[in-house]
Amino acid sequence: MSYHLLIDGRLVEGASTLDVIDPTRATVFAQSPRADAAQAEQAIAAAKRAQRDWATLGYDGRRPYLERMAEAMTAHRDRIAETLTRERGGPIADCRVEVERATAAIRHFAGQRLEDRVVRETAQELIVEQRYPQGVVVAIMPWNRPMTLLAFKFGPALITGNTLIVKPAPSTPLSTLLLGEIAAEIFPPGVVQTLVDANDLGTLLTSHRDVAHVSFTGSTPTGKKVLGAAAGTLKRFTLELGGNDAAIVLDDADPEWAADRIFASAMINAGQVCYAAKRVYAPRRLFHAVAGALARRAAAAVLGDGLDPATTMGPLQNRMQYEKVLEFIASARAEGGTFLTGGEPTGQGYFIRPAIVTGLPDSARLVREEQFGPVLPVQVYDDLDEAILQANDTEYGLGGTIWTGDVRRGIAIAGRIETGTIWVNQHMSLPFDVPFGGAKQSGVGLQNGIEGLEDVTQLPVLNARLAA
Ligand code: NAD
Repeated sequence: MSYHLLIDGRLVEGASTLDVIDPTRATVFAQSPRADAAQAEQAIAAAKRAQRDWATLGYDGRRPYLERMAEAMTAHRDRIAETLTRERGGPIADCRVEVERATAAIRHFAGQRLEDRVVRETAQELIVEQRYPQGVVVAIMPWNRPMTLLAFKFGPALITGNTLIVKPAPSTPLSTLLLGEIAAEIFPPGVVQTLVDANDLGTLLTSHRDVAHVSFTGSTPTGKKVLGAAAGTLKRFTLELGGNDAAIVLDDADPEWAADRIFASAMINAGQVCYAAKRVYAPRRLFHAVAGALARRAAAAVLGDGLDPATTMGPLQNRMQYEKVLEFIASARAEGGTFLTGGEPTGQGYFIRPAIVTGLPDSARLVREEQFGPVLPVQVYDDLDEAILQANDTEYGLGGTIWTGDVRRGIAIAGRIETGTIWVNQHMSLPFDVPFGGAKQSGVGLQNGIEGLEDVTQLPVLNARLAA
């Protein structure tokens, strides 16, 4: 199987190639084309050339292209999902859901539009807020959810009249290249393009004068580099960054019920989800019941090849992340953590048995930092105010959850959690018509909702005097 970049409407070879590693086996399984700076320049020039005509089509003209993209993705669902299972790891059922969610998002945004807003219309004057596309949008992606996270940029950027260059993470390029192949059949040249790098085109893309907007999803440290590079041309940007989300169990919750839901949302994709629960706070009365219930679920996880239907958990996606999570485990042991279960590397690939860890001080690295892997600390609290203080005592502010037998009580407490989203008695719900973004160092700007469309547009004000 050979893969191609999509540049200016043509599927082309890269200037060189890149090994793609199957994290289930830790072996190379495919070659990806790799773009060089000259190809990135070609893509930017093509995106700039294509943008005016694309914008001129208007919402009604652009909508059918996005609908056809969603239709084609549905037709290719299994091929994309299988590629995702190979390059990202994880159960095939989960990969199919990811492709379906991405498709549904593109279909949703195909039907969205931003209307002009009349601020004032009198006999004397007309003042209208209009919405124009910004121009060339560059989407820079992480490796944990290559399809859904891309769809949250793809739909809004294109339907509002921008052109789009997508740069996937170097360790998960193939599913994005498949989308590029599909897009090549549908969109006019230059409207959608794909570039793969080896972590070396970021600066070019984020500082280029012909790129209007950088929509970045990834880690907070890289997000800060993007911000720095974008400053030179005062680019617009959206930054969706890391998180260290707390799950707070209230003393009126059923521990088995809460553990079921917390486990599912902490360990999905082997913990590699930005808004997964990354630390749990349980009241002393329920602490052993909650920690024990989480540990039983962790011990029952079936690790393996995502193509095996028995598999419930895949590997870490790449060696660097695998080694990082092993370091978190070593530091949790050194800081006095008790592993109720898990924490051992296993299998040929980048697998780590899911771990539940208790007895850590609040200052422990596993509690303070984003582990982005299947190792979950459970902290005990005596006073709910103290637990809320701990939940908020972080530079991150992406999401969080509250688990309670009294949803109204949970809603009242939710207002005290300093994050972009706070879920009560549910998690992972991310409707396309609801904005999502981080507080504090978890991000700048919003995706999804009408706000996600506004983020990639400019607001020129028309201000006319109608009568002297
Ligand atoms: P990363 O920051 O290492 O890489 C993300 C992307 O940035 C990759 O495509 C990479 O090639 C590119 N990049 C590297 N150097 C760059 C530079 N100097 N300029 C521009 N781009 C550059 O992140 P990752 O390890 O791929 O992803 C994991 C992180 O992403 C976690 O912190 C996770 O929480 C976060 N994440 C956030 C969200 C969200 O919506 N907030 C969603 C998913 C993941």
